[in-house]
Amino acid sequence: MGVGGKFWDLLKPYARFEGLDFLRDKRVAVDLSYWIVQHETAIKKNSVPKPHLRLTFFRTINLFAKFGAFPVFVVDGTPSPLKSQARLARFYRFTIDSSTLPVAEEGILVERNQTFLKCVQECVELLELFGMPVLKAKGEAEALCAQLNSEGYVDACITADSDAFLFGAKCVVKCIRPNTKEPFECYCISDIEAGLGLKRKHLIAMSLLIGNDHDLNGVQGIGLDTALQFVQNFSEDEILNILHKIGNGDIPQYWGDIKSTEDAVSHSDESMPMVKSSHCSFCGHPGTKRAHFKFSCEYCINDNNEGCLKKPDGFKCNCSLCNKNRKEKEQKKHETWWIKVCSKIALETNFPNDEIVTMYLCENNGTFTVMGGGIIATDGPSISWGSPMTEMLVDFLVYHQPWQPSYIRQKMLPMLSTIYLREMATNPVQTLLCGQYEFDSIRRVKIRYGHQSYVVKWKKAASAISGVKYTAPVDSDLHLEEFMEVDEPNDLLDESSNPQIHVDGDCWFLLTDENMKLVHSAFPKKVDHFLQENERRELKRKRTSSLRSEESNGKLESPKSKGVQLSITEFYRSAKVQSQEKSGADLAKDSNCQVDRISKENRRVSSPNLSKSARRRLLFN
Ligand SMILES: [Zn+2]
Ligand SMILES: [Zn+2]
Ligand SMILES: [Zn+2]
Repeated sequence: MGVGGKFWDLLKPYARFEGLDFLRDKRVAVDLSYWIVQHETAIKKNSVPKPHLRLTFFRTINLFAKFGAFPVFVVDGTPSPLKSQARLARFYRFTIDSSTLPVAEEGILVERNQTFLKCVQECVELLELFGMPVLKAKGEAEALCAQLNSEGYVDACITADSDAFLFGAKCVVKCIRPNTKEPFECYCISDIEAGLGLKRKHLIAMSLLIGNDHDLNGVQGIGLDTALQFVQNFSEDEILNILHKIGNGDIPQYWGDIKSTEDAVSHSDESMPMVKSSHCSFCGHPGTKRAHFKFSCEYCINDNNEGCLKKPDGFKCNCSLCNKNRKEKEQKKHETWWIKVCSKIALETNFPNDEIVTMYLCENNGTFTVMGGGIIATDGPSISWGSPMTEMLVDFLVYHQPWQPSYIRQKMLPMLSTIYLREMATNPVQTLLCGQYEFDSIRRVKIRYGHQSYVVKWKKAASAISGVKYTAPVDSDLHLEEFMEVDEPNDLLDESSNPQIHVDGDCWFLLTDENMKLVHSAFPKKVDHFLQENERRELKRKRTSSLRSEESNGKLESPKSKGVQLSITEFYRSAKVQSQEKSGADLAKDSNCQVDRISKENRRVSSPNLSKSARRRLLFN
């Protein structure tokens, strides 16, 4: 959607592919409707109920935790009728087989619109439970996204709607492929200007010529290439006035590059009569064949003085007269083209449509409040990020998705740990992650798609163990068998990293992947400790390996139980089973031994399923 034709194809050469940290600590505006519209391309038909909620859940967590961004979500206000029709068509094309669709009548359109708006509303509810800022645009969501971008409140917009540039966006993230080295496909207006010479008003002019979401047809008979060639002739300040002039039937003379550069020459020559000069038919140079036979051609001089050389195929004479003729011919061609294009434009009624131009240039697309560094704007919802209301979020998602509470908590953990680390970095007071985990240590460096992160070990704090707060709430109406695990598509934002349980003796830990810089700013001493330990281990390894090679018959080290990694879902399940067996009153009393039993239970339950490498580690470490 956006500008018609194959507009994105035109911009394709100016795409930038940015790495995982592109949006880290940056604000980014998300066109929520566009996200929702995409849902069916993301998930197989009917495999998941309410895919829009699922997508919004995972994408938000990934944007926030994995990519470290601060998303601002924007929803449509009242889009123009044409636009909402275009959007609905897209929404339903993916959801319903179009062949079974009844002819769209007004009633059906209204009903469909309500269904779509309900999806949007559910996503907004979810986002507000996440603590994310959600803004409502007056009209198009991408218009407010673009305005936030052009006024510097956000660094980029996430939308695949090329309209965003017409509304003033500076950087548009069109596509996110999370599981790649460079997940962000984005486009900057500065690159488009440098490459194609197009600024915002040029793009508006092009959209008027070839069509857009508000005027699907554009000018009859003008395509992308013609429109591009046309607007490139004018500066940004001129282009819209020129369109107005032509629209009124006042066709300006063509002053394309050919005439303008040759102006001086052609003017002085015009007064002179056109001289017909003869050219040698053999070599093609000025003169005649006969003359060249007598006195060899001055352009054909060769070593043997053998006269003219035969002209090669496609020979072009470069004498001033031939050049002039050629240029005049070329100019004639351009003039014809110009008049043809202008007449097509002049044929349109109400061109250019001022309403559309005004809409694109509007600088008041919604209200919002931005705090910090002195209040900048204060007439709407605040752009700020709160903490997720985890309990309500879990309830909301359990109601709408076939998920267990433990699954939801597990998937949310990266977001909670990111918030926790950010808080610790700015205000290092002694608090716990989720009220019960303390930062234990850094386990190792993890490299994925060429990107490094720390695997952090979180230890259940002693004070939290007596509370048993983090187990799933008991809900006797739901049976485990009713829940299905959803296969996660790999190429989408959907996959959030899986926190794991690490059992080490009688202690167990949560493991999460965290941004290295963030960990360092939150727990600098832990990072130093990790790096020193690493160095020591490295030295030791070098020493023992050199010792071994000297002895040449090293004995096997005695097997010693080391950590076992479990999937966190297993932990939650067994924890739930355990807690179901106990009455509430007993929970607190027995919790210490219960936790111990849980970890033992875990090891027992999962050991047959351990991966080869884990088993090997168990046996031989
Ligand atoms: Zn000749
Ligand atoms: Zn010659
Ligand atoms: Zn010539």
